[in-house]
Amino acid sequence: MGNLGGVNSAHSGPVPRIAVFGSINMDLVAYVETAPSRGETVMGREFRQVPGGKGANQAVAAARAGGDPVFLGAVGDDAFGVQLRSNLVERGVDVSGVSTHEGSSGVAHIVVEDGGSNSIIVVPGANGAVTATREGDARLLEGSSVLLLQLELPMSGVVAAARAGRAAGALTVLTPAPARELPAELLEGVDLLVPNQHEAAAITGETEPHRALEELLRRVPEVIVTLGADGVLYGRRGGEPLHVPSQRVEAVDTTAAGDTFCGAFAVARAEGRAPEDALRFASAASALSVQRFGASTSMPDRSEIETALG
Ligand code: ATP
Repeated sequence: MGNLGGVNSAHSGPVPRIAVFGSINMDLVAYVETAPSRGETVMGREFRQVPGGKGANQAVAAARAGGDPVFLGAVGDDAFGVQLRSNLVERGVDVSGVSTHEGSSGVAHIVVEDGGSNSIIVVPGANGAVTATREGDARLLEGSSVLLLQLELPMSGVVAAARAGRAAGALTVLTPAPARELPAELLEGVDLLVPNQHEAAAITGETEPHRALEELLRRVPEVIVTLGADGVLYGRRGGEPLHVPSQRVEAVDTTAAGDTFCGAFAVARAEGRAPEDALRFASAASALSVQRFGASTSMPDRSEIETALG
């Protein structure tokens, strides 16, 4: 149960409870020279099995950054389900809101070619069964200051969770990935939207980040557009946009940089930090993560983030 009941170093209050309603996948990654074309079989060089899913990654990032995350989601009744659940527990995530469904867990089948380009098949499995909030979700949301949402669960479930989070008094934060049309009934329940620049462009049709930000602020009260190595652009209705540059670092693997950012931002915000401080905390966390290989295994812990902030 992670940091439950403890305190974290530079923050004297209780460890903040962060709820995450999202996907849990097992990533099955094959490394090959060239991906097979239709009907072809090729020999792979290496295989890795890595726990993933945007929801699970954000929850792990929040735990590493000093929060007390509780997960709302589902795994299958297969061997992956057992591994995915225990991986979350080992990484400090409360799984009391994770249900087990008959059938397979979520799986992402990833082929990485030499040179780094990849192709991915996601089979949602148990994630696809989370079409609504479940018994117990409202109770778990009650004590949470922030609710993190993404779009890897069925839309009806995400809409219901945003509403329930709002009703429980949590700040509702949506990462709109994979990018898609955002229905009004979802946006009604969202306080803060965190797209990367490609998602912001896909949603608004505006490729210039300031214009995309302005357009998104018509739909939700607060927006962060993440700009990769260029940092983040933050806006709040009625306020001036704020650009926070990222730290100059040697990036080796940017997988899950956005999820690291969201998990750390949720913790900083839940601790009551001002937006600019919370953005710097989250930027430092994600800048550390891109200097290491892996997704959840590359996420820095709180002391590393504080050291990087100086
Ligand atoms: P991913 O899909 O890989 O998880 P993303 O596309 O959602 O990432 P990005 O905008 O690429 O999100 O990155 C999120 C944040 O991570 C950035 O706003 C920045 O703070 C940090 N970051 C990403 N790339 C770099 C980099 N090369 N150097 C420093 N910080 C970076």
